[in-house]
Amino acid sequence: MKILKIDHLGIAVNSIDARKNFWTDGLGLSLEATETVEEQKVTTAFLPVGESEVELLESTAPDGPIAKYIEKKGEGIQHVAFQVENIEDALAELKEKGIQLIDQTPRKGAGGAKIAFLHPKATAGVLVELCER
Ligand code: ZN
Repeated sequence: MKILKIDHLGIAVNSIDARKNFWTDGLGLSLEATETVEEQKVTTAFLPVGESEVELLESTAPDGPIAKYIEKKGEGIQHVAFQVENIEDALAELKEKGIQLIDQTPRKGAGGAKIAFLHPKATAGVLVELCER
């Protein structure tokens, strides 16, 4: 498995509109188009930072994973995403190493990426996403 870089940090917010000013006006990052991924009940907004990005995540439904996360832990960093060369190979390798996965096979993420989450039980509480672009 080859990790190429930290692809993005996923940050859970109640409202992208209400929270984006800190990132744009405050830090001077630019917000690229937002995208709703219906299957994950989430709207995402990507703000490039050098070779990585900040991903703001807003739930589209009260029972979505981001809404549940905020209910439990409040707004804040929700996951860290590593870009890998080949996500199927990476998942197979992790399985072989006995690392618990949430996604056994990749699913579709924002921007046409293939993504998969590892189980926080396997990572001491850090939700780790792998993505391939
Ligand atoms: Zn992500």
